[in-house]
Amino acid sequence: MRRPFIAGNWKMNTTVSEAVALIKDMKDGLNSITALDRVVCPPFVSLQSAHELLRGTSIGLGAQNMYFKEKGAFTGEVSPLMLKELCKYVIIGHSERRQIFGESDVLVNDKLKASKAHGLLPILCIGETLEENESGRTTAVLANQVKADLAGLAADREFIIAYEPIWAIGTGKAATGAQAAGTIKFIRETVAGVWGKDVADAVRILYGGSVTAVNIAEFIREEQIDGALVGGASLKAAEFVDIVKQSAAIKQAK
Ligand code: PEP
Repeated sequence: MRRPFIAGNWKMNTTVSEAVALIKDMKDGLNSITALDRVVCPPFVSLQSAHELLRGTSIGLGAQNMYFKEKGAFTGEVSPLMLKELCKYVIIGHSERRQIFGESDVLVNDKLKASKAHGLLPILCIGETLEENESGRTTAVLANQVKADLAGLAADREFIIAYEPIWAIGTGKAATGAQAAGTIKFIRETVAGVWGKDVADAVRILYGGSVTAVNIAEFIREEQIDGALVGGASLKAAEFVDIVKQSAAIKQAK
């Protein structure tokens, strides 16, 4: 049984005071739904405040990125040593990092290794572009990403992967539940090829891309889909709590 997992990726949104207000708005609602893991990922500058506000709750805190070195002359970067005092999770390899900031699978792999070495739980994002999807290369792209990103990492049952088709992120055009489930099944089989079936069956694989309170049920109903990485809709307290509530109810009924 994989414990369902819903995370909110706030991206580069909210000032510190806005982040504090947003956490206060969603904290009680999220904290009361304990049937699944709930995580918020605000910008770096708000992690300290978020950490304090979430202390004593069952809500997890994650960062949206990190560098793989512990410290040194890496101006502007944030290290796993800094993050591990504040959070449990870190998003690695989000498509915006890959596409806008040129992050390669080699860098993603280094970051995954560093996060594990420091006891942070990574949420690895993978996904294909619209062009790759339309030219029938989705599975080849995803298989390459999984193999390159996991290279040299010890088999890990706690690992979390978010399948985020790039054409669905922030576009309002989500995949269908069946499409996402089929692709996630393929990702799980690919993970099995690297880490073995036993571990792959324990790894949680989320769907991400234009998830809202209106469409979450379609994804969560799928046995293969263990939760969601939510962008835009995680910035609205009531909607994010609703997404978590619906997910808990659907997974509990299974
Ligand atoms: C994301 O940022 O990971 C994401 C899935 O965004 P959105 O839900 O806004 O498409």
